[in-house]
Amino acid sequence: MSTQNLEAIRATNGPTGAPRYRAYLAGEWVESADQEWIDVLNPADGKTIASVPSLKKADAERALEAAVTARRKLRDIPAYERLEILENARHILEANRQLLLDIIVAESGKPIGVAKGEVNATLERLTLTLQEARSMHGEYIPGDWVKDTTGKMAIVRRQPRGVVAAITPFNYPLFIAAAKVAPALIAGNTVIVKPSTETPLSMLFFAKALEAAGLPPGTLQILTGRGSAIGDTIASSDKVDMISFTGSTKIGEHIAQIAGMKHLALELGGKGAAIVLADANLDLAARETARGGLRFQGQRCDAVARILIDRTVADDYVHKLVHEVKTKYPVGDPREEATAIGPLINKKAVDHALDLIKDAQQKGAKLLTGGKANGNYLEPTILDHVTPDMRIAWEEAFAPILPIMRLAGIDAMLDLANQSQYGLDSSVFTNDINKAWGIATRLEDGAVTINGYPGHGVGHFPFGGNKKSGMGREGIHASLEEMTRVQTIVLNLPPMNTPYAW
Ligand code: NAP
Repeated sequence: MSTQNLEAIRATNGPTGAPRYRAYLAGEWVESADQEWIDVLNPADGKTIASVPSLKKADAERALEAAVTARRKLRDIPAYERLEILENARHILEANRQLLLDIIVAESGKPIGVAKGEVNATLERLTLTLQEARSMHGEYIPGDWVKDTTGKMAIVRRQPRGVVAAITPFNYPLFIAAAKVAPALIAGNTVIVKPSTETPLSMLFFAKALEAAGLPPGTLQILTGRGSAIGDTIASSDKVDMISFTGSTKIGEHIAQIAGMKHLALELGGKGAAIVLADANLDLAARETARGGLRFQGQRCDAVARILIDRTVADDYVHKLVHEVKTKYPVGDPREEATAIGPLINKKAVDHALDLIKDAQQKGAKLLTGGKANGNYLEPTILDHVTPDMRIAWEEAFAPILPIMRLAGIDAMLDLANQSQYGLDSSVFTNDINKAWGIATRLEDGAVTINGYPGHGVGHFPFGGNKKSGMGREGIHASLEEMTRVQTIVLNLPPMNTPYAW
């Protein structure tokens, strides 16, 4: 993106001197009518890095109108041209890799190494989605296998749903939104993105790249504004045909209640269990559970959030885990390559994590390392002897906390894992494939990883939750399916036995 291009996004600097960026509404870069701005803070030091318009209900209504009008523009662009626009955008993003990295680190506090993973995964997801789109062929169904439909045939095609509202969380501000926007646009939908108020910046630059790549005005809009101010207007609107939401179970359930008759894809909270059996490779289990629980400060829906360990090997495992955490997870400035643990997103998140730690300690859990906070930074924390009466056994911490529950036997582990209200991701560590299979098929999660921590990378495998972790699946193929609906076109033809008068 040239500097000239970026000028359109920028408004006059705010009182702190930090830049103000405009939202993208109806093909224009706009400020809010009342000139109200939301400061975006760097979680590492609390300083304002930028401000974005605090859009309101009237702005959301204008965007909805524009999204409906723009549908025809997108529908009339042949699919290969839509792919070309997305491909151009991918090149622009690739050329601006460093800018995207800097934004992600500054707005989310993500350690640079993890942020690189997010940018790489976004670019690869775009490439793979573009490839996959070409294989969305539909079906031909002959009718003469059934008496009733003899003389007919059906072509089953996938068509866009219409207007897709993508509402996204703070933790993967670029990847999660891009993984919704790309398949939605390719499929021919118009998209309204409501990014997290904590991390709205990367999506503005993403939209700029798509605009520069030739995306028609109004087909993608980025509405900065608080969920409490504009969320309900978007989610309850009859102009929206599908909501693709990623965020907390609380907001997801609220959206489901007000959405009415529209297609919902909800990617919500998790409380992933790692089940470690007595025969597991404990070095591997310690390494993977630490990584699964601590990567990006544990602020991942698929984080290892409870370790259910066979009590006969618990001492050995705990010893290895403590060593792993103390030696490999330095806390520090997220811009430094050596940093493994950066800040949590805000003070509320730190307070929530500290409450959970305190509750566990008061009920008898043993703090093995960590437990202290400094500003938004929380030390990587291990709690041993966690029991089911503790909040940390059930509540999503979204923080670098590894709670260990010592249990006797596989049935007890399975029961405890499945008692969770969530059903997103879990993992099993064992060297016995029969046990691994038996446990995996009895777990109530959307995904189970054997001998590794759950990680979904670019989305080659379908991903999504059960129970209060949501509904629907995302992935390179799965998202294209979610963003389209099936239309059956029936052709009446002369029956096979009709003599042709050529
Ligand atoms: P959140 O608080 O639920 O926010 C998610 C989005 O919802 C934000 O854009 C938020 O806007 C918006 N929102 C708030 N109120 C709304 C309303 N009334 N109507 C419509 N939208 C509204 O979640 P978060 O704290 O950003 O993210 C963490 C959560 O996301 C965790 O629970 C995590 O497990 C989950 N998550 C799940 C997955 C998955 O794939 N299953 C992936 C990543 C994260 P504001 O920011 O303006 O409030």
